[in-house]
Amino acid sequence: MAGRRLPLWIGPLLLAPVLTTAYYVAGHFAGGFAAVTQLLYSSASLTAVAGLVRGALRYRPRGARRPWLLLAAGQGSMLIGDLVYFVLGRSGEVPYPSVADLWYLGGSLGFTLGLLSLVRRRTPEWDLPSLLDATVVAVAVSLLGWVYLIHPLSAGATGPAQAATVAFPVMDLMLLSVGVRLMIGAGTRPRAFWLVMLWLVGVLIGDTTYAVQALLGTYDGVFVDGVWMCAVLCLAAAGLHPSMATVDEPSPAAAPDATRTRLAILAVASVVAPVTLGVQYLRGAALHVPEVTVACVVLFLLVLARMAGLVGVQRTMAITDGLTGLRTRRYLEEALRTEADRCRRTGASLAFVLVDVDHFKRVNDTYGHQAGDRVLVEVARRMRQVVRTGDVVARYGGEEFAVLLPGADPRSVAAIAGSIHRGVSTAPFAVGDDQLLSVTISVGVACLPDDTHEVAELTRIADQALYAAKASGRNRVVLAGTDPLPAAA
Ligand code: GH3
Ligand code: MG
Ligand code: MG
Repeated sequence: MAGRRLPLWIGPLLLAPVLTTAYYVAGHFAGGFAAVTQLLYSSASLTAVAGLVRGALRYRPRGARRPWLLLAAGQGSMLIGDLVYFVLGRSGEVPYPSVADLWYLGGSLGFTLGLLSLVRRRTPEWDLPSLLDATVVAVAVSLLGWVYLIHPLSAGATGPAQAATVAFPVMDLMLLSVGVRLMIGAGTRPRAFWLVMLWLVGVLIGDTTYAVQALLGTYDGVFVDGVWMCAVLCLAAAGLHPSMATVDEPSPAAAPDATRTRLAILAVASVVAPVTLGVQYLRGAALHVPEVTVACVVLFLLVLARMAGLVGVQRTMAITDGLTGLRTRRYLEEALRTEADRCRRTGASLAFVLVDVDHFKRVNDTYGHQAGDRVLVEVARRMRQVVRTGDVVARYGGEEFAVLLPGADPRSVAAIAGSIHRGVSTAPFAVGDDQLLSVTISVGVACLPDDTHEVAELTRIADQALYAAKASGRNRVVLAGTDPLPAAA
């Protein structure tokens, strides 16, 4: 029977049109009964608090309730603010600011902290590019907010009234920044996520409309209150939706880095400051030169930091093998030239080790290409484990690897090559569920300056040594200029 009922989270969404209509009607026809409209309005808030707390307790059994409880506390604080305002209003004109405004600010703080907590859980490594992008957007919106809303609104006010007039939009801007960060960052986007987003958009539209109407002197309460009520009921639905349990799941993948949409948003955001100044100039309005200057500098530095990050990512990608995470062949060849020059100057030695997986084609043919890939990844991991930091390990070709050992003493090279050989070949490889496979490698080694003085020759001689290892039966190390030793036991 319970399964046939509508899901609980639909409730607040169905309630939204009912409550707002009743609110408009009560406001219109029963203007004298402020208690009725207050009751209707507060019941939306109360539904949200109850929905969020219920969701947190029901769907988040093993802790991790903080984001939702913070959102609930924020809405609770808003509700108390409304009630305080109502009580103060019973005994005459409510001063601005009043105690109620403190509760409203507390509510905004709860919302911001709640969303921030969600963001941090979803991307524990903090996903720097998205943070920078969100800050760029926030700075641009803040500038617009300051120039066109906060500054004109607070112009006539002084003391606490001015502080409150500035504090509300600033809190909204914080909420917006965290919201943008939540939106563009990595992570799951279940239905509860979109309900939270709807709430946020509603709250911000409501707050901005309120500020604009207050500025123009056209505030009538009814429209804005309806928007706020609908938004708050979306938050209630988010709390009650079962998918709220997964909204703060840590995201394994980083967000798409520099998509076209993102670049377009960044471009628009970063020209907001100079365009604002241009528009003010053309309209003959008062210029906000200091504010625009600060915004321009901050935006420029943020975009520069973002570009530096992108260049860094591109560089890492260019020198990293996609499958194994080792260096690429191109990087190795560059490092080889640099190290060879250094050797010539200092008289130090340099060893070049070539590794080829034996009969790798059979691994692919027998266990499939994916199993082959897994073996390659594991070979790479084992090689990295054996060599010292400062040695360069690279994927040289399909199933060929190379290690550059700068400063390796020619006498110890045999031992190092031997430990690479043993380190990779000794333990079997897992190629499937409970399937273990023995994989061996052949190793060819050449040294500078003992075997040659030329870089090109060095790789050729190492390749010859590797060929000799293959030709003499595989699974062994051959040092250039020496006879192949028997295969390791
Ligand atoms: P040998 O002992 O003589 O080296 O024999 P082999 O089978 O290892 O050598 P061969 O050159 O005949 O085959 C290498 C195989 O490696 C063929 C190719 O399909 C496979 N291979 C190359 N790159 C990759 C890769 O990225 N992933 C997988 N799974 N296989 C690869
Ligand atoms: Mg091979
Ligand atoms: Mg090969």
